[in-house]
Amino acid sequence: MNALIALINGKCPQCRKGDVFSSKVTNLKKFKDMHHNCPNCDVKFESEPGFFWGAMYFSYAYSVASFIIIGFFFFTLSEDVNLTYYILSVVIFTIITSPISFRMSRLLMMYIAAPYRRFKN
Ligand SMILES: [Zn+2]
Repeated sequence: MNALIALINGKCPQCRKGDVFSSKVTNLKKFKDMHHNCPNCDVKFESEPGFFWGAMYFSYAYSVASFIIIGFFFFTLSEDVNLTYYILSVVIFTIITSPISFRMSRLLMMYIAAPYRRFKN
């Protein structure tokens, strides 16, 4: 499977077959629950303690991109921008997409920063 397709589908960065998360993204109570090891190849997802702290940088970049993209639409489509609407739009968008942001941040952290292909356990 292509790495980009595996990333979007939330598959293991090593074998690209096993699911990283144990429930669907639409399950708001369990969207953050992950398997500790890949159900297919048994690689440990958290390669070192605190590994997923680095995912905050991806989440931060996503939030900044949301601010910029929504701001671009607000400030180019209208000449008289109400800042309250702009801020509310960004906050609501960020809250609604937070499960996707959470998962994509962790997956990007695993796909980009983890040494899965070099060190098998
Ligand atoms: Zn795997």
